[in-house]
Amino acid sequence: MDFNDSPQEAAFRAEVRAWMAKNAAEYASPPATPWSEAQIVALGRKWLKRKADAGYATITWPKAVGGRGGTAMEEVIFRQEERKYVLPDGPFLSIGVNMACPAIRRHGSPEQYQRFAPLTLSGDIVWCQLFSEPAAGSDLGGVRTRAVREGDNWIVNGQKVWNSWAHHADWAILLARTDPGAPKHKGLTFFVLDMRTPGVEARPIRQITGRTDFNETFLSDVVIPDSCRIGEVGEGWAVAMTVLMNERAGPRDKDGLVLRLIERARSAERPGGTALDSAQVRTTLARLYAEEQGVKYFGYRLLTSLSKGEPPSPAVAMIKLTQTHYAQLANAYAMDLDDFAGLFETPERPHQDQIFFEYLYQQGLRIAGGADEVLRNQIAERVLGMPQEMRADKDVPFDQIPR
Ligand SMILES: Cc1cc2nc3c(=O)[nH]c(=O)nc-3n(C[C@H](O)[C@H](O)[C@H](O)COP(=O)(O)OP(=O)(O)OC[C@H]3O[C@@H](n4cnc5c(N)ncnc54)[C@H](O)[C@@H]3O)c2cc1C
Repeated sequence: MDFNDSPQEAAFRAEVRAWMAKNAAEYASPPATPWSEAQIVALGRKWLKRKADAGYATITWPKAVGGRGGTAMEEVIFRQEERKYVLPDGPFLSIGVNMACPAIRRHGSPEQYQRFAPLTLSGDIVWCQLFSEPAAGSDLGGVRTRAVREGDNWIVNGQKVWNSWAHHADWAILLARTDPGAPKHKGLTFFVLDMRTPGVEARPIRQITGRTDFNETFLSDVVIPDSCRIGEVGEGWAVAMTVLMNERAGPRDKDGLVLRLIERARSAERPGGTALDSAQVRTTLARLYAEEQGVKYFGYRLLTSLSKGEPPSPAVAMIKLTQTHYAQLANAYAMDLDDFAGLFETPERPHQDQIFFEYLYQQGLRIAGGADEVLRNQIAERVLGMPQEMRADKDVPFDQIPR
């Protein structure tokens, strides 16, 4: 693959390649027997620690806070090289590194950051996100889980849902209502929660992919010390926004998907040649490639501003919106190119069943972290400055909003 690196970038890439060759050798190809969830988590912790020890876990963060002090391009290069391996990875790692830690760093105290960041980067604790509820998804301001202050503690009751890998998590980031008499976005407070606290119960939910890696989570008289509150009481919305911006900007680099499609088209036999001989196939691949490159370079621009310490831009919604859409189109096209629609693997075609799995999985990613329509609203209002959607309940005390 041609990356057009500058001399400094080429040197960094060579360094990363050598490091990966030495440290990720066991992940050069998919495991002979698919890993169980528990194995993914155990191996994922070790992989994150290995990266952290070498300074690769958070490349753009300053060294003083556990990063490498590197550039956005170095981050991108590391991800490109990492993607060549089949690594044990999952939201339990990215929620900690890319969502919890930046929120704690920005809104918490230095002591809180020191308490959680090193343990997160070393893989000693993995995280889940307890935001969504049965009646609060896109409209996250509708959170009903209650946290009531009792001395130095908060007593939390409620139900969360769609919590990825919560049944494996050590800690959670949690949004709860602390003032039902305040307008809905103003009565929220942000906490971190030890998932082993009595009263926390995560129940896995089966998904269309056949996996059960997300949960509904019940919180019954859960005691959270006030030292686990991040930011001021009533300012949880701002902290949650930092989390969501980082979630939408997070590693979702799909560069290379179209190159793999081209290889598939080249090897898909058709009467008189291969699928790649068809002008229609080449046109579709060219369109997907243009979209892939557009998303990639727009992402680099946002990553650069993030690495300069600028607050996450609302334009990250464009990345999430276009990339998940494009990835689903590309996976659908991979099914079209495959003689068995990506449904089966055979000894000659190992892992081909992953094509169908990926297609189904991508559908969820168009909802997770902000559904398409909601992202479009965000782009219209906060990037393009168009008139706001009507929000009749915005200034109404939460407990007076009709249910
Ligand atoms: C794979 C996956 C992983 C997830 N992981 C987590 C997790 O770890 N932690 C967590 O807290 N949550 C998680 N979620 C939940 C996710 O954040 C929510 O599903 C998402 O916010 C949408 O909320 P909802 O499902 O309640 O749908 P709803 O908000 O009920 O939306 C239903 C439909 O209505 C549309 N809609 C809603 N409001 C508007 C509007 N104002 N204008 C136009 N259209 C609108 C939506 O776009 C959608 O199509 C996950 C979801 C998925 C799919």
